[in-house]
Amino acid sequence: MARQESVRPRRSAQSANSTFKDTVAVKAIRSLTSDALRTRIMRNNRASGNQSTELRLIELMSEARISGWRRHSMLFGRPDFVFPKARVAVFVDGCFWHGCSCKRTPTANSAFWVQKVLTNRSRDRRVSRILRDRGWQVIRIWEHQLKKNPRRVLLRIARSVGTLLEIDRLA
Ligand SMILES: [Zn+2]
Repeated sequence: MARQESVRPRRSAQSANSTFKDTVAVKAIRSLTSDALRTRIMRNNRASGNQSTELRLIELMSEARISGWRRHSMLFGRPDFVFPKARVAVFVDGCFWHGCSCKRTPTANSAFWVQKVLTNRSRDRRVSRILRDRGWQVIRIWEHQLKKNPRRVLLRIARSVGTLLEIDRLA
């Protein structure tokens, strides 16, 4: 019972010489601002998120005549694309949410973001490992690679799936 008290051992050493920064009112305002900011950051990154990158990959794959894929598979980890025959699972990872080095963690509330991204990354690793253990090839594509080097992405997929690409058509 007494343990409940010890759940929040809040920086007592620091708050001993507490400054203006730590007053309750200021804390409340700061958390309001950061909540609003957090919501905005989430919204921005969701809007430009998975849906459009998936559609982009569909477009690229049909240009390259890569077929045999399915979406909305119920396979473990819910890959974005699955090639059932070739047993290839493709994930398109949003750079922001999955912690690509091309994105910086927002400076406001960075502990929150770092934690969130770490959680996502460890789940990604676990999902990949489990799928590989079950005999799937796992391809993880960064959102930015789709934009910067779609050709390489397609080559990777084609190689795993065993499709011969008509490379010239992709230039
Ligand atoms: Zn990236």
